Amino acid sequence: MIASVFGGLRRRPWTAVCVGLLTSVAAPAALAADCPGHPDAIGTSRTIVVDPRAHPIIGTMQYNKTLPLADREVVLTFDDGPLPKYSNQILAILAAHCAKATFFLVGSQARANPEGVRKVRDAGHTVATHSQNHPTGMDRLPLDRSRQEIEQGIASVTAALADGTAPAPFLRIPGLRVNEGIEEFAASKGLQLWSADFPADDWRNVSANRVYELAMQRLENKGKGILLLHDIQARTVAALPRILRELKARGYRIVHVVPATPDRPATPTDPQQWQLHPPSEVVATSRWPKVPKFASAGPAALPVPALSDLDWRTTDLGARTARRGRGVPLPAAMPWPRQTTLPPAGTLAALPVPAASLFKLPESARLTLLASPASRAATAQARSTEVSSAKLAGKSRRRGGAAAAQPPAAAGQAAQARQSVGGTTAKPAVEAKRNGRSVRVAGLKKR
Ligand SMILES: [Zn+2]
Repeated sequence: MIASVFGGLRRRPWTAVCVGLLTSVAAPAALAADCPGHPDAIGTSRTIVVDPRAHPIIGTMQYNKTLPLADREVVLTFDDGPLPKYSNQILAILAAHCAKATFFLVGSQARANPEGVRKVRDAGHTVATHSQNHPTGMDRLPLDRSRQEIEQGIASVTAALADGTAPAPFLRIPGLRVNEGIEEFAASKGLQLWSADFPADDWRNVSANRVYELAMQRLENKGKGILLLHDIQARTVAALPRILRELKARGYRIVHVVPATPDRPATPTDPQQWQLHPPSEVVATSRWPKVPKFASAGPAALPVPALSDLDWRTTDLGARTARRGRGVPLPAAMPWPRQTTLPPAGTLAALPVPAASLFKLPESARLTLLASPASRAATAQARSTEVSSAKLAGKSRRRGGAAAAQPPAAAGQAAQARQSVGGTTAKPAVEAKRNGRSVRVAGLKKR
């Protein structure tokens, strides 16, 4: 029956869509089946392996990179444990949902409760570190102290694990108070510095309901990401079951993160996947920078400044400054600005008209044209020269009878120019020069 249905679908273009739908419907059932006795569990949809050296800093609360998550994927993180009273309850809630998380443990807490560290590990969660003593304001500590905090924290958790293994090379700085020195040190040690994508403010004096609301609202705003919680707070214990149920109801999926090892290569990813919202070719606006909204406190249009306001040479600068000095004596002669010999304002309102000669071809260029083998361009040039010369000659004739009676010199020159088109002698160079002058005169007279 099923085979015949698929046989029928095979020829239809929407076969792939149907198969996709079947897969997506089947996925949650498979997850629930992975959590025996807890049919409503959200489960853990997948595990990603990351290489800290390839991606040393993550979390969009501080950086422009985060884990390579798909939409509606969430990574759960818990800081400051282990504290048996609450950490054990957090572990029990996660176990009931088959949800895997990352725990950033404090070294001094690990020394006090080494069994708590092993419980986290044995439950299959990722064990990471969060300094030795959880100092506030680590960014203001001398770098040596910060290094000590980081290294001792790792040593304490390693000792608590007591199996010769080290915690994951994932580090979160208390209060996210990092500085460049800490970032560089972490990178040099192959530690991945974790910020987060959104907190739920569960360290503040707010209700468990508020923790739940903030977690969901901030997740909805980003669509995916690393949630920062604390496993040492009663309100977090109270809020977590509701958060997990709601995550499942809204179609979110839990992703577990583990570090790459020689035996466990990193999950292949594209660089773009490490951005919270990679630029998309189909969403044009995602590439545009945000335009800030400026509050307008004054009139919509400012008055146009008068030109005289801009000219310091026309005003008495010393007197003006003295007025603003409110009684403080100022030197009568200001040491600056130095007076220059610029003409007074207004005299340069019109720029001089450029001479026509500026636009003429240099004499040498004209000669080159005329001396080159006959071409259409050269012929046309010679003809235009001839016409101009003839016009000049005509004007000369009109002005004086004597000039009219004699053959005009310009006409003679034009005849020479015709010869020079043949390009055989050097003599036409002088004549062409004269021609050039005569043309120029004609041009100016026209204007
Ligand atoms: Zn902390």
